[in-house]
Amino acid sequence: MNIPFRRITPTPTEFKVDLEGVTFSGEVTYTERNLALLQAVLKGEISLTCDICAEDFATMLHEKIEILISNGVYEGFNERYDVVEINDILDFDALVHSEIELIRNDYHSCENCKKQERN
Ligand SMILES: [Zn+2]
Repeated sequence: MNIPFRRITPTPTEFKVDLEGVTFSGEVTYTERNLALLQAVLKGEISLTCDICAEDFATMLHEKIEILISNGVYEGFNERYDVVEINDILDFDALVHSEIELIRNDYHSCENCKKQERN
């Protein structure tokens, strides 16, 4: 699912994308020159690899995501939101894909290893 940046207006545009077993749904709102705020929830089951035993395990996601979308290079400074730069087209599939990759790149341990860490 794609939408052109110029179609994003100050009235929130709702979206819902199903990809890789997760659902990414929310709304995107034009805020100011070349910027839009995307507020969404990423939920569903994904498979992660345990950083301790290297086993794959499934986990349920329920992440609230707020991203500032910048059409073109973002030249401002923002501590509150992650900024994603786009080129006229907001590609939701690519966005979901990169969010999932970010989550996968975090540190994860499976239930078994978590239990052992506690003992
Ligand atoms: Zn493990």
